[in-house]
Amino acid sequence: MTEIIDGKAVASQLREDLQDAIETLADAGARPGLATVLMGEDPASQTYVNMKQRDCEEVGIDGIHVEIDGDAPAEELYDAIADLNADDDVHGYIVQSPVPDHVDYRDVIDRVDPAKDVDGFHPENVGRLVAGDARFRPCTPHGVQKLLESVDVDLEGADVTIVGRSDIVGKPLANLLIQKADDGNATVTVCHSRTEKLVEKTRRADIVVAAAGVPELVDGSMVGEGAVVIDVGVNRVEADTEKGYELVGDVEFESAKAKASAITPVPGGVGPMTRAMLLYNTVKAASLQENVDVDLP
Ligand code: NAD
Repeated sequence: MTEIIDGKAVASQLREDLQDAIETLADAGARPGLATVLMGEDPASQTYVNMKQRDCEEVGIDGIHVEIDGDAPAEELYDAIADLNADDDVHGYIVQSPVPDHVDYRDVIDRVDPAKDVDGFHPENVGRLVAGDARFRPCTPHGVQKLLESVDVDLEGADVTIVGRSDIVGKPLANLLIQKADDGNATVTVCHSRTEKLVEKTRRADIVVAAAGVPELVDGSMVGEGAVVIDVGVNRVEADTEKGYELVGDVEFESAKAKASAITPVPGGVGPMTRAMLLYNTVKAASLQENVDVDLP
């Protein structure tokens, strides 16, 4: 029987496990604060920031939301970032991507105070992660690690194939999984759009992580018998539904499930974990900035 990895349940447990830390911080007068910054009117981004705000409210983190007109000059966003860097009540914040075309996201990230960079995208935090001393693990890769932990996969010496080399998923996940650590110690192959013989590389893997943004790219024929399959993809494809689309992962679920020992669904797999790990990073940011020791799950 293939185990369906329940990301919602793992995320919900993690949020519960964060409660003690949040209470400890609140008791010390240091209630964690997370800000979300949205520039422009992208509907998917609006949904994401709304969910992040709702998550904060549910766990007792102060949520602040900043909206900037999509036509505003980049300086308006930079000013908002400077304000958040200076605001002692904000321990962490994220600038929702994508930003409008006239704004360079790299320039935006460079301006974020690394101590408040709960996405973990600032070059200083990327460097620390690669050096094995991560301050904030980027939320999606960290969530994937927690999902693997939840099904007791033995990572030591395992062959992991990651499909996708993005700065927010593929690269940081590869870096985390090769660290000399209990949640690392794997041998990782990172595949991308120029990779040849992709099938060979996924089929030989003990763990396949699909993060390419291509609907149902990884099917059963690409999965080895008994592998663990983690589907990071969230793709909107046209469908005869009320909204006119449905969400599809990067894995063809049914055929991959027939081969896998465990697999994440979409939705309900990696997505809820990404949200939970943002709360985790915010609590960690508050603990570091306020010098209050907490136990993190
Ligand atoms: P991206 O577009 O930045 O990167 C995609 C990567 O996949 C690239 O490195 C590219 O080289 C590789 N790729 C594309 N087509 C390929 C192919 N045919 N074969 C092999 N490699 C290929 O995407 P991203 O931001 O990393 O996101 C990937 C997917 O994960 C998207 O569907 C995105 O929506 C989703 N995502 C989900 C979450 C979550 O919380 N569930 C978080 C982040 C991203």
